[in-house]
Amino acid sequence: MIVAKQKSFSEVQEMVRGFSRVLVAGCGTCVAVCLAGGAKEAEILATELSLAATAQKRDFSARAATVERQCDREFLQLFADQVEQADAVISLACGAGIQFMAQVYPDTPVFPGVDTSFIGVAEGVGVWTERCKSCNQCYLGITGGICPVTMCAKSLLNGPCGGPKNGKCETDPDRDCAWVQIIDRLGRQSRLDILTRVLPPRKNDLDTQPWKIVRQDYQKRFSFD
Ligand code: SF4
Ligand code: SF4
Repeated sequence: MIVAKQKSFSEVQEMVRGFSRVLVAGCGTCVAVCLAGGAKEAEILATELSLAATAQKRDFSARAATVERQCDREFLQLFADQVEQADAVISLACGAGIQFMAQVYPDTPVFPGVDTSFIGVAEGVGVWTERCKSCNQCYLGITGGICPVTMCAKSLLNGPCGGPKNGKCETDPDRDCAWVQIIDRLGRQSRLDILTRVLPPRKNDLDTQPWKIVRQDYQKRFSFD
């Protein structure tokens, strides 16, 4: 899932200063799970903005609406009526959803209500950790399902470096060494022979941005303007 955190109220308030009809757009997927931008957070932010404006005797209204996914055109189009009534939108989706909202509704200013942090997992209640940098050349099949790009402090493909101590990374004694974990995992699976292979450097040209994927069988069907 994509993990994000809410921007401070003062930063959001400052972004929409000068606008009087604001739509707070929640997204029902990743940002809802990490409690940053789902329906509940959208309602709370809209209420906070309205209360602050009332206290300042400003002509202002904020309303909240949430769709399942802001990174999907079909869902974004469900916002059409609400966007038409607004002079600005605060999107609580991840950076991709915010940009798509701004693309689909180019005449209305769209502001980010969250900071998009990383692709990660929920470790427990209220704790998320990064697991993937979407490098576009996944190594998990040969690293025991542990990402060397994200989990190793130096993103080493052929580890470990000379630094691990008692299973911890030399950069941070509280951080597990990814390569010690990779070796442990492959050992448990009797697959240590994989590590005799030296991996070539990552293909940096595959990191070129922005990346685009169009399935072969959909290439004639869609235009992406
Ligand atoms: S190697 Fe790591 S960063 Fe690259 S795609 Fe796989 S999990 Fe993501
Ligand atoms: S100690 Fe381990 S995690 Fe830290 S940089 Fe070296 S190989 Fe990577």
